[in-house]
Amino acid sequence: MDKNNIKKQNVYISEEEKTIDWNEIQNAFKKTFGTEIFTSWLQKITLIKEYNDYLILGVPTRFFRDWIVSRYLDKILEQVRSFKLSLNRIEFKIIEESSRTQDVVKIDELNKVTEIKDSILNYNRLNPKLNFSNFVEGKSNEIALSYSKKVCEHISRYNPLYVCGGVGLGKTHLLNSIGLELQSDNNVMYISAERFMYHFIKSIKKNDMVNFKDFFRKSSVFIIDDIQFIRGKESLQEEFFHTFNSLMDKGSQIIISADRTPMKLDRVQDRIKSRLAGGLVVDIEIPDLDLKINIIKEKILEIQNQFKEKIDLSDEVINYIANESKTNIRELIGILNRVIAFSRVHNKILTVNDCKNILKDVFSQIRVVTVDKIQNIVSNFFNIPLSDMLSQRRSRPLARPRQIAMFLAKKMTSRSLPEIGRRFANRDHTTVIHAVKTITRLSEQDDEMKKNISQLKGLLLE
Ligand code: ADP
Ligand code: MG
Repeated sequence: MDKNNIKKQNVYISEEEKTIDWNEIQNAFKKTFGTEIFTSWLQKITLIKEYNDYLILGVPTRFFRDWIVSRYLDKILEQVRSFKLSLNRIEFKIIEESSRTQDVVKIDELNKVTEIKDSILNYNRLNPKLNFSNFVEGKSNEIALSYSKKVCEHISRYNPLYVCGGVGLGKTHLLNSIGLELQSDNNVMYISAERFMYHFIKSIKKNDMVNFKDFFRKSSVFIIDDIQFIRGKESLQEEFFHTFNSLMDKGSQIIISADRTPMKLDRVQDRIKSRLAGGLVVDIEIPDLDLKINIIKEKILEIQNQFKEKIDLSDEVINYIANESKTNIRELIGILNRVIAFSRVHNKILTVNDCKNILKDVFSQIRVVTVDKIQNIVSNFFNIPLSDMLSQRRSRPLARPRQIAMFLAKKMTSRSLPEIGRRFANRDHTTVIHAVKTITRLSEQDDEMKKNISQLKGLLLE
């Protein structure tokens, strides 16, 4: 595999960069959010790393992160993008208060060390808070959980173990728990498919493939998260296939997660699919009411222990939250954090009605506005067939609505630019950036456009 081969492909590479001035962004935060929110939340965020398309920001606690994510993420992203348009994602890293300054120094030092080492310390670190003891069992995850535990007892019996399920249902939590359980007696490697690719590309550029291969092939337990990321990336698949085979040959345990079953991994080589399906495939399903309630209770206990305070939520309120959150567990926890923060600030025991008010905008945003809905409403609004709007044709009467739909998808959903591009007949993320810029400009200059956008927003939030 040589450099030229890689270049031909449409892979998305993240390179570390240093172009933004964090102080400047902090000042902008202060203006946008006001002093109160700024000093209690945003000021405490630090910049850890900057890449071409995303930032890694440091926050003091997990609760802090969940709170920021559930309330301010969209605005934060919008703000940082006004400084650097290519950013489309923010990752948070939790830095314990006491070791914060120390950590930042460490990361600076790390830049001088080899990239592979960098990966172990920064990205392969297992999160001690995602373990078996705080993974709540329910009907939707009992099989996945039980085999995850069995893998820990009998290495290589179920090989590979392939855990699949929709977003936010607990895959990363399970994989992480397995890693923690096995790490004392094994050489555990835990990495997301995206990071795997990052190191793969880096090693090719540095002409250091030998090191790369050695590094990944020496593990006795290899855990790779979100394997669907390799779809459509030929040379990455090639490398993954060899890594996979060589690990299997030496009897290492492989654990994989994905958002779909192996056979549904389109644009993945057949030989890889059948390898992935060759061990045991377990599924995590949408949680039922019981599980959601139990998870809420578990989280309340965790927060109480962490903050040493009593959290009073009535069964009625817990039931309400569990019933309202329909999509996934990550959303459920985000909502719970919101409710708890509200009761903390207002120092009162909440009623179901209070919750309804607190969550009104969360639900309308999370649940109602999807890329599909935007596409349907926009094509109806301009009276053009949806298939034409999504087609490759570039005539103005189709191109404008298409750009408007992309713009709305960026503004009203949490989808990333590449994800939005894919939903528009596999367009590139730069096309989406261009659409967002164009429509932003037009809606400032052109009254007709301004009116259309505001009507469309109204229709979408109805
Ligand atoms: P995925 O990787 O499938 O997208 P995650 O593992 O990141 O999902 O889970 C999302 C959030 O929900 C995490 O905070 C995780 O700890 C929590 N979570 C998911 N399932 C459970 C469970 N069964 N018990 C406790 N917490 C859970
Ligand atoms: Mg995950």
